[in-house]
Amino acid sequence: MSFHSLLGFGFGNSKRSGLKRNWTKMECNFSGHTFTNRFLIASLRKRDYADDESETWQTLMDTVARDARYMWETGVKSEHGPRYWGVVLGIIGDWPFLHKCGSFSRSFNNIQKRVNVRSPPVGICHMCKAGQSEYPFEQIETRRPAWLATEFVQDPFLLPSPFATHLLHEPGKEACLWNFDWFHTMHLGVLKYFLGSVLALLSEQEDSGQVDGRFSALSAKYRLWCHQNSQRAHVTKISKESIGWDTTSSFPTGTWHKGSLSTVLMNFVEAKLSSETFPNEPLLGLAADACKAIQQCSRIIYRSSLWLEPAKCKLVAECGFQFLRRYAQCATLAKNNGRCLFIFQPKLHCLHHFMVSLWDAHQRNIKGFNPLGMCCQQSEDFIGRPSRLTRRVTAQMPVLHRVMDRYLQSTYHQFISSGYLVRPGGR
Ligand SMILES: [Zn+2]
Repeated sequence: MSFHSLLGFGFGNSKRSGLKRNWTKMECNFSGHTFTNRFLIASLRKRDYADDESETWQTLMDTVARDARYMWETGVKSEHGPRYWGVVLGIIGDWPFLHKCGSFSRSFNNIQKRVNVRSPPVGICHMCKAGQSEYPFEQIETRRPAWLATEFVQDPFLLPSPFATHLLHEPGKEACLWNFDWFHTMHLGVLKYFLGSVLALLSEQEDSGQVDGRFSALSAKYRLWCHQNSQRAHVTKISKESIGWDTTSSFPTGTWHKGSLSTVLMNFVEAKLSSETFPNEPLLGLAADACKAIQQCSRIIYRSSLWLEPAKCKLVAECGFQFLRRYAQCATLAKNNGRCLFIFQPKLHCLHHFMVSLWDAHQRNIKGFNPLGMCCQQSEDFIGRPSRLTRRVTAQMPVLHRVMDRYLQSTYHQFISSGYLVRPGGR
């Protein structure tokens, strides 16, 4: 577990960004080495909190929540005089983490899998009733879905949460302390579903005999495109295995775990769909629209500050809604043709939430919150580092102390090289 400031140095892609010039701006916290902008709170091995040790998890949550309370209530006094406070504004993590951290009765794993069920479905979202009988989360083609009126009306907690007790929050809206994040929603979710189907359809446009031959031909085009456009390919081939498409009766979806691969594949697919036409495959025509819309949506937020002007909220939301509409149309058309393509998964609902809230900001003519403000992308990089450290320390006790020691040593080094700490003599 770690924490980080909401504010940082932006995305490192503008000339203005950089340590010296940009430090008081309302920018997202992406740029810079993650050891200098993410701060480790606790690290545990799986076996320390699994099975027989499951109470450890609850203790950790309770301790972190109490610490967070201390930070807004009492604060920490510097030896030089001033007192500092810290306020936790939100909790992020992948969906399994949110589910476990909040002890939610409703999350992605409560999705209804059969047509007929004995008890009514409990819903898939801790913030609204989506996924319950009257409120399908699949209603993604509208900006006024039925679930919209059900935000924060139903308590999502199985157990009272220490975070709801100790953190400051809007009364009655405890649930929105836990935030969906763009990276898990898109790069490791929606974009993988979309790419799975689009790559399957593109492979069918190749005329190299069997399915493996067609994927080889598509892979060659992918590698060439990456080479010509100076993009890192990450993989040497795209195969039916990479989209989990063993048979045409299974829904293809990306099987990779690397967010940056989703990004490059989206750029490749965007270039291909915008430069070619596929008169024999109407699904690719709809997918081209969807691709263009979500790429534009993504580019805008990755080039924006923490707050989006109302007009920008409108633009981003319109792009996002267009993607969702086209995705739903693709799914319907595929279904009518008896094809398993464009799978519906709960993460589409998270994207829907992002877009609905930006649309709401536009309608109220207020600045909207950039979804990348609460994003795990950099935290994932950060988690990877201590996790690699744990593999390098010997497994004797107290291994967790040694992980922390190594982490602090590495952080110290990064603080020096980033100029946050200056050693006497300037070395
Ligand atoms: Zn919801």
